[in-house]
Amino acid sequence: MISGASTQNGYQEPVSVIVGNFNPPADGKPSLLSHDEVETMFHEFGHIMHQTLTKAPFASLSGTSVKTDFVEAPSQMLEEWVWNKDILRTLSGHYKNNDEKLPEEVLKTMMDLRKYDYGKSYTKQVLYALFDLSIHSSSEPVLDVTTFYNDLHEQVMGFKAAQGNHFPATFGHLMSGYEAGYYGYLWSEAYAADMFTRFEHDGLLNPQVGMNYRHIILEQGGMQDPFVLLKEFLGREPDSEAFYKKLGLTLK
Ligand SMILES: [Zn+2]
Repeated sequence: MISGASTQNGYQEPVSVIVGNFNPPADGKPSLLSHDEVETMFHEFGHIMHQTLTKAPFASLSGTSVKTDFVEAPSQMLEEWVWNKDILRTLSGHYKNNDEKLPEEVLKTMMDLRKYDYGKSYTKQVLYALFDLSIHSSSEPVLDVTTFYNDLHEQVMGFKAAQGNHFPATFGHLMSGYEAGYYGYLWSEAYAADMFTRFEHDGLLNPQVGMNYRHIILEQGGMQDPFVLLKEFLGREPDSEAFYKKLGLTLK
């Protein structure tokens, strides 16, 4: 990856790449992506847009060099595009006949199932974030991380973790530049949902909103506090209402 930056020879154009493990071509068929993989592709493409459309003068403020609370927002927002029937109709197609789109019934089932088990999956995100924060803020060394995690699991999830698991050993975010920042995924998602309200209102393919988003959010990188950028893009202070709505919750 090459960060955007002003140099004596003009602007250094940023370069980004997605390296992913997707379904390889097999049995004479081309690589056919699952919906989950397409969602991942859109997510990562959100990061790529953030990195390549930057206009920041310094590499340290360029693209995704933003606060951890916000870094996942552009990528998470782009996931919404693969949960829109019209977009999916445009994107999908039988590999032998692109006019053969995902059937209406399948699209409806996918939309209906999106929120399936949301309660559990989002509570688990809270558990991971709390575990991450606890491990990094503990005044004493946490020697038995598995027991510590299992206890926290029971406390947060309301049931015991599967026996014999060693989840902390597979939780790369603990030490991959995200340390004590995993909560940023949920926090960013609240911003992502809020930013998406503008596209929801004016159209997912609306070029004016897209350009506005590009100028105000993507080009700025870390030059300005995300809260200030969000306020400018939304025309109001950001809030969590859209996020709760996404979860199917209403705050009364
Ligand atoms: Zn991401």
